[in-house]
Amino acid sequence: MSLASNERAHKRVLGLPPALTGGPFLPQHFVPSVLHIPADWLLTHGYRAVLLDLDNTLLPRDCDAIPPDILAWAHGLTAAGLRCCLLSNNWHARVSAAAEELGFALVSKAVKPLPFAFLLALHRLQARRREAVMIGDQLYTDMLGAAVLGIGTIMVQPLSDYDLAHTLFLRKLERFTMGSRVPEPLC
Ligand SMILES: [Mg+2]
Repeated sequence: MSLASNERAHKRVLGLPPALTGGPFLPQHFVPSVLHIPADWLLTHGYRAVLLDLDNTLLPRDCDAIPPDILAWAHGLTAAGLRCCLLSNNWHARVSAAAEELGFALVSKAVKPLPFAFLLALHRLQARRREAVMIGDQLYTDMLGAAVLGIGTIMVQPLSDYDLAHTLFLRKLERFTMGSRVPEPLC
């Protein structure tokens, strides 16, 4: 579903203008998982830098190891020449360990959706906003923060139902804002 058609769907579902229901900040794409985001798709769409959330995007919240298929996908980004940075609100040891395993730059304690960490990540990757895309599993942190800055947005379904209490609350708001939108392949 395109962004425009998604906004029209919101008008139908909620009876409110998209501006009041998060329409302008809805993800440009919504896919089942990062495994549905090929490196060559990113390159052909002009992206040179990839900002990635960690928890429940690359690493299940209830797990300490990145699944092998996701690790291989992440290494494929780097092999394709994409510059990658983890952008996590988390600050525990598992974040730095994951960044090292992935071979990605890291900005932790990001306080998404505030813009500072997004800008720091772009600086570290020497990338412009229009060259960057944010991949994450949360609308009101990952997607909102990137969209405000004009960074591309790809939302994924969370890897696990387990999450922090405040995140589970935000997911209820996400379902309201996302309406009937379901994950779809990139086109
Ligand atoms: Mg997350």
